[in-house]
Amino acid sequence: MTAQLRARGDVAVLVPAAGAGLRLGPGGPKALRLLAGEPLLVHAVRRVAAAPSVRLIVVAAPAAEVEAVRELLAPVAPVTVVAGGAERQESVARALAQVPADIEIVLVHDAARALTPPDLIESVAAAVRDGHPAVIPALPVVDTIKEVDPGETVLGTVDRSVLRSVQTPQGFRHDVLAAAHAAAADHLTDDAGLVEKAGRPVICVPGSELAMKITRPLDLILAEALLNLG
Ligand code: C5P
Repeated sequence: MTAQLRARGDVAVLVPAAGAGLRLGPGGPKALRLLAGEPLLVHAVRRVAAAPSVRLIVVAAPAAEVEAVRELLAPVAPVTVVAGGAERQESVARALAQVPADIEIVLVHDAARALTPPDLIESVAAAVRDGHPAVIPALPVVDTIKEVDPGETVLGTVDRSVLRSVQTPQGFRHDVLAAAHAAAADHLTDDAGLVEKAGRPVICVPGSELAMKITRPLDLILAEALLNLG
């Protein structure tokens, strides 16, 4: 049985949350680390559930934590929880398998982007609804970017005006994401990469500073400060 949020919503959001989060240091799966007293996953799911188009949320949890994650999220929103896989892509594929065929828009959203505002979820979904098969939120790159060789000698400076830093949620037509996953040969860190490989156009919409990825200990401090501002 899939738990449904809003019968008239046309969007399913997959939340891969099965990563170990080693870059945050020791202390258990990243999605369950605390930010202002609550796990990152709770912050993320609360914001996804507040987006008016969302009918279904599927979380891929660490295999050993499926029951605990179900209990954790029960008071937050109706959520389907499945066991994630060894790679992010496998976690997404297992969550995707739970989405019924009549939901035409599927978003993939990292639990680590715990403060992503509901407005960004809506704007990605709206661009898919408007006819784009694959949509990603992105920000301009602010640092100067150098290309280096294996010995760290600079080979050149990359024109940053053509670069984008990409966030989640990444949005897709259901059939396009399912076909890209079915055809996937190697593991990529984002789902839009699979769609690009399948030769489909992917477009960017403006991202949000609040959709920052909480990866390193400093990110937790920054995220806590952002929460206090709001
Ligand atoms: O490792 P990375 O930071 O790229 O992970 C991005 C997201 O994918 C995180 O929310 C993490 O929990 C999830 N993930 C997963 N299954 C894995 C690895 C990562 O669901 N095997």
